[in-house]
Amino acid sequence: MPDYSNLSLWMATFEGDLTPRPSLDGDASVDVAIVGGGFTGLWTAYYLTERDPSLSILVIEREICGFGASGRNGGWAIGDLAAGLDAYARRSSHEAARRLMDHVHRSVDEIGRVTATEAIDCGFAKGGVIRFARSRAQAARQAAKIENHRANGIGEDIIRLLEPEEVRRFARPTDLHGGIFYAPCAALDPARLVRGLAEVVERRGVRIVEQTAATAIRDEGVTTAGGQVSAPVVIRATEAYTRDLPGERRTLVPLYSLMIATEPLDAPTLAEIGLDTRPTFADDRYAVIYGQRTADNRIAFGGRAIPYLYGSRINPATERDRRSHDLIRRALVEIFPVLGDVAITHEWGGVLAAPRNWIPAVRYDPRTGMGTAGGYVGDGVVPSCLAGRTLADLITGTESELTELPWVGIESRPWEPEPLRWLGIRGTRAVMGRADRFEFGTGRSSRLGRLAYELLGR
Ligand SMILES: Cc1cc2nc3c(=O)[nH]c(=O)nc-3n(C[C@H](O)[C@H](O)[C@H](O)COP(=O)(O)OP(=O)(O)OC[C@H]3O[C@@H](n4cnc5c(N)ncnc54)[C@H](O)[C@@H]3O)c2cc1C
Repeated sequence: MPDYSNLSLWMATFEGDLTPRPSLDGDASVDVAIVGGGFTGLWTAYYLTERDPSLSILVIEREICGFGASGRNGGWAIGDLAAGLDAYARRSSHEAARRLMDHVHRSVDEIGRVTATEAIDCGFAKGGVIRFARSRAQAARQAAKIENHRANGIGEDIIRLLEPEEVRRFARPTDLHGGIFYAPCAALDPARLVRGLAEVVERRGVRIVEQTAATAIRDEGVTTAGGQVSAPVVIRATEAYTRDLPGERRTLVPLYSLMIATEPLDAPTLAEIGLDTRPTFADDRYAVIYGQRTADNRIAFGGRAIPYLYGSRINPATERDRRSHDLIRRALVEIFPVLGDVAITHEWGGVLAAPRNWIPAVRYDPRTGMGTAGGYVGDGVVPSCLAGRTLADLITGTESELTELPWVGIESRPWEPEPLRWLGIRGTRAVMGRADRFEFGTGRSSRLGRLAYELLGR
């Protein structure tokens, strides 16, 4: 039996039972089969039980609920979409894209509401995000970002620029040139949320089978080693692991993100760092980094260290890459030098998923009963909640504002075959690393970095 408590800080400190639920042992027939017991699958099940409590729903999970990114992530419940408003506006209208963003912003509070109502104790703390500008180039980029948000009609209540002294009221990083405060974000413990959701839906009558791999998904059913599942509605919620399903190798690329966590910090160390209201934090370098002060006063901090393995491979050994974890620790200590002397108690990693167009989307075809949601890149905690609610409306034929949002129905073309995929992704990441070193070294903006950013559609 695998030791699932090794998967992340969150799983290691989870006080509930991680013993797998029984596997599927024979054929089954249900109204809705959901493949994947992460946030997407479980939020879909949750809202389906709200819309129509009479539905029979089966969640099929290959390991245990929360095994994937949902049980391992940075715990930023950020009301944002990886693609940004403009990408949706180009495919619909500015108004429609604004409506989508409003729903995404409000979904942070929806998670707060559900966790309170269902008594899921996941340490939800809505402290926003502080994104430090730690070079002049980062500060200039932030000013431009704010202008873009204002041009899109997004106001100070959502995002605002901060002077260095305002940032210091929240946190005390090195090399401070300013910052951005983004309000719609909460810090939480993702394993407690995903495990809690599984318990809630189970109490509502949803059947969850674990250690049951779907080997094929088609309209009218799912094939597993334990039996055939027939269902008029089948939802694929497998995100980065989609590459294992027949015919899906180039649908989404798995990208690695690795994390570390410190021991719980003492009061003098916390006083030097700040983060008292538990805002999540990052700086504005091109490479992605993210951190939070946890409910038990650790710093959990991560970055997208190893970007991609040839052939879209997923290799558990890559989640424990010494060099990448050392780099992540160095980045954290550069921001908060006081952390140079504290113990790192947990190191882990996981895979997130990127579609070729980099645009998270929800899809459902009422003719075939097949649906999916995801491609969230690194921002899936909140969008998966909105996606689950939207899928529930689409499946039950409930006309709502959600089913009209412009992320519904967006398709992406498949990724290039290898070696082009590997060269493109690795090359873009190398450029971003060089751009960050240039900007930290000179304080000037990197044209190369901007170009890579544009190519990624950010
Ligand atoms: C290290 C890390 C940090 C991150 N930090 C953040 C963050 O701070 N904020 C944020 O918003 N997002 C973050 N993300 C992204 C976020 O975690 C994901 O977008 C989100 O959890 C995706 O949820 P999901 O349910 O779609 O996928 P997953 O959580 O990956 O769930 C997919 C599930 O499907 C199961 N499965 C796969 N294939 C099969 C099969 N064939 N049969 C049966 N079951 C199958 C898997 O075992 C898994 O449990 C991070 C991701 C990582 C890896």
